[in-house]
Amino acid sequence: MKLRFPLALVVTAACGSTPPPTIAPSEPVPVPVPVPVPVPVPVPDQDAGAADAADASPDAAVSELSVDAGPGSGTGTGTGTGVRPAPPKWLKGSTHVHAAPSGDSSTDVKGVIAWYETRGYDFIVLTDHNRVTRVDPAIAAGPAVRFPDKGLVVLAGVELTYNPGKCDPPPPEPEGKCRIHVNGLGVHTRPEGKIEWADRKATTRVSMYRAALRWIAAAGGVVQLNHPQWHWGTSTELLSLLAGEGVHLVEIANVQFAKWNAGDARRPSTEQLWDAVLTAGGTMWGIATDDAHDYDEGGGGRYPAGGGWIMVDAPREPAAIVRAIDEGRFYASTGVSLARAEVWDGALEIEVAGAGPASHVTRFIGAGGHVLAEIKGPRARFHLAGVGGYVRAVVERGDGARAWVQPVRPGAHAGGH
Ligand SMILES: [Zn+2]
Ligand SMILES: [Zn+2]
Repeated sequence: MKLRFPLALVVTAACGSTPPPTIAPSEPVPVPVPVPVPVPVPVPDQDAGAADAADASPDAAVSELSVDAGPGSGTGTGTGTGVRPAPPKWLKGSTHVHAAPSGDSSTDVKGVIAWYETRGYDFIVLTDHNRVTRVDPAIAAGPAVRFPDKGLVVLAGVELTYNPGKCDPPPPEPEGKCRIHVNGLGVHTRPEGKIEWADRKATTRVSMYRAALRWIAAAGGVVQLNHPQWHWGTSTELLSLLAGEGVHLVEIANVQFAKWNAGDARRPSTEQLWDAVLTAGGTMWGIATDDAHDYDEGGGGRYPAGGGWIMVDAPREPAAIVRAIDEGRFYASTGVSLARAEVWDGALEIEVAGAGPASHVTRFIGAGGHVLAEIKGPRARFHLAGVGGYVRAVVERGDGARAWVQPVRPGAHAGGH
């Protein structure tokens, strides 16, 4: 029996898990709280702690994965005697892509499609600023604007973009602007021209975001919060509040904003923001994107394409892809490819695809952003029994490229599910 990782969270939600913290909508200024700081722990021995290093002998490791009866086998997710399903056929895609209709890209839609198609992508979401760009005139509604029998699927999308000079809380630097940028993925409507969605009377960031959420909900799309730390635009409270209002996707690795993603001495990184939401019981999936504007062959330009994407476990069908993203059935990547990332026999298991000689380290991260285990090699497993809160994983290759595996909630396996 197989229980793939995001189902854990779906089950949790159905059981009525701890809701995200509520903050009164009228409260204009989120109050800062301590930011969780990941605390490294020593690398465990192979037979110590909850995790197993399974990279010493690749062949032995594969068989061990299917017969293991360690502490995780009590969670009810399988006894190790079943036949393990084949690895997912991941679809590669970017959920943040601009073309000429955005006004700040010189590449037309045809050129953008050619760029991704020739590089083996399965889908993109076309997210021009404040407009839903059409591609195939025959598709007048629904979650795709292009859906050929073969080749690149282009999902309908938009980046709702609003850059007022003032907002509450304000950007810390005098030259900073308020960057209220929210993607709608798989929107069903096709408004003509520029979308006037912003609430220009709004003064607080949260009310500005709410206007975006309202527009995307009405358009039948899925919300993705973009580059949350650009000009330090998001706090843990704001992100938790938005998580409670339907934001379940956040860019933790928009590769155009690496400096901001990393945080600084006083401001949390995007991953620390994510961990804070998860620690508070919220549902949030981490996205990597290229936020592409420039498609030069040599990778030049201000915002070059490539560099960040997601790998989705879904059939090649527009609505199914959008649903899988919404439900967290994907991992995010800046270069690391995974063969598997799933819960099997009570453990979260990660397997790097085609690892070759490159060195990989997998970190399992839990409540408070704490590193629960660190395992070297192309395979890693972490027993979930007895672990509270959530567990997510980050695989890092020697050159710094990463893959982020979505959080699972071990508690979701208890209580008769
Ligand atoms: Zn943006
Ligand atoms: Zn953008």
